[in-house]
Amino acid sequence: MQSLVNYIKGDELPSPTTPIEIAEGILWFRLPMPIALDHINIYLLEDNDGWVLIDTGMADPVSIETWEIILKEYTAKRPIKKIIGTHFHPDHVGLAGWLIERTDADLWMSQIEWLSARQAYLDAEEISLVRMKKFYNLAGLGAEEKNLYHEIGNDYRDMVSPVPSVYNRIENDTIITIGGRTWQPIFGSGHSPDHVTLYNEKDQILLGGDMLLPRITPIIAVWWQEPDGNPLDGFLKFLHGLNIPSKETRILPAHDRPYKGLSIRITDLIQHHQSRLEITFNACNEPVTACSIMKKLFKRDLDAFQIRFAIGETIAHINYLLRKGEVTRDLSPDKQYLYQSTASK
Ligand SMILES: [Zn+2]
Repeated sequence: MQSLVNYIKGDELPSPTTPIEIAEGILWFRLPMPIALDHINIYLLEDNDGWVLIDTGMADPVSIETWEIILKEYTAKRPIKKIIGTHFHPDHVGLAGWLIERTDADLWMSQIEWLSARQAYLDAEEISLVRMKKFYNLAGLGAEEKNLYHEIGNDYRDMVSPVPSVYNRIENDTIITIGGRTWQPIFGSGHSPDHVTLYNEKDQILLGGDMLLPRITPIIAVWWQEPDGNPLDGFLKFLHGLNIPSKETRILPAHDRPYKGLSIRITDLIQHHQSRLEITFNACNEPVTACSIMKKLFKRDLDAFQIRFAIGETIAHINYLLRKGEVTRDLSPDKQYLYQSTASK
């Protein structure tokens, strides 16, 4: 689906160490990443004699090298005083610990995101593997994907510096003032459990993190830790509940480019999931596993890494329909979940 949003700077992109001032006092940096999603946007917000940083990038050698330059060129006279993590994913807070050691900044996150980061970082691999295997077996992923477990394990730890053991909690009534601008936190789940976006009403700027990307849809997936979770419901509630004027609002996302056109984008995202729900529902005309539904939703060949995301996305759509009572779930004799639409029974 081609999004009709308006990129504020057109095709112009900042280089990793030369930012674009995307709004008064807000520098947009684009850090490279060694994964398929090959970059992340981070923002430095001028705060009198200091900076506030929104997200950090992943703990990989290229990001660290880039940060060494940014620290030297931009923060020598004006230090980073606060780091706000939109959510716990490694590209967003992977370098929080590393930066805090160098800058003395405070980390600000929602409590659930901080706990998720700590949990993911400290999780014991041996126990996880057993549970993970059960989750994928129930989904009908069998022998053909047998490398799945070996290729995953706790890779979170490989992508982050030690997650800080001390943080400041962003709550509903937390007002964040940065350089005279007041930012109101807006929480949302689906992509992660308690993602923070920040909105400045006066200048109509929304720091969107991963929730309102202009072109790609954020991953909305069920993971082995919460197999019966319903993240899609959370994400759709967030989209329906956003009450922000659309026309002039500048959205500063964590990936792709800053844009205008919030209401168009919200409609796109809702429609995307609605059509995925339809495919899922129609696939359940007869009892099927999550794996066979996945093959209808994702028609290309997937490697082990991609299967993890694809099956998670598939189960997110299935669980949404399960909760609505449109689909039922039974355990087959060989211990796989079989889904069937109630309409076809
Ligand atoms: Zn994310």
